[in-house]
Amino acid sequence: METLFTKIINREIPARILYEDDQVLAFHDIAPQAPVHFLVIPKKPIATLNDVTEEDKGLLGHILFTAQRLAKEQGCEDGFRVVMNTNENGGQTVYHIHMHVLGKRQMTWPPG
Ligand code: 5GP
Repeated sequence: METLFTKIINREIPARILYEDDQVLAFHDIAPQAPVHFLVIPKKPIATLNDVTEEDKGLLGHILFTAQRLAKEQGCEDGFRVVMNTNENGGQTVYHIHMHVLGKRQMTWPPG
C-alpha cells in the first residue's frame, strides 16, 4: 500500500528535502522533536524494520551512512540520535521504514 512517504518521494505532497539519490531521500520532519529533526528513508517501500531481507543490507548501511553525513552537515558534530521506531510497540506511525535523526539539544535516556 502506498504510504505518505511514497507520496513525498513522488512529489505528490511537499517536504523540505535535504538530500536525494537513487536509493534514499532525506527530509525535515513535519513535527520536529529537536532543533534538528530529519528523516532518512529508502525509496524502496519497506513497511517495517522486521521486513528487511538479506538483499537490503547495503541499503540499510547507506541509510545510516547518509544519516551521519547529513547530521554533520546540519551542525550536529557534538552529538545526535538516530531512531527507527518499529511496529506498534516501537511507536511507528508511518509504515515505510525511516531513520529519525535528532540533534542540537541534549538527549536523555531512557527514551519515552
Ligand atoms: P514514526 O512515528 O513512524 O516513527 O515517525 C513518523 C514521522 O513522520 C513523525 O515524526 C512525523 O512527524 C513525520 N511525518 C508524518 N507526516 C509527515 C509529513 O507529511 N511530512 C513530513 N515531513 N513528516 C511527516
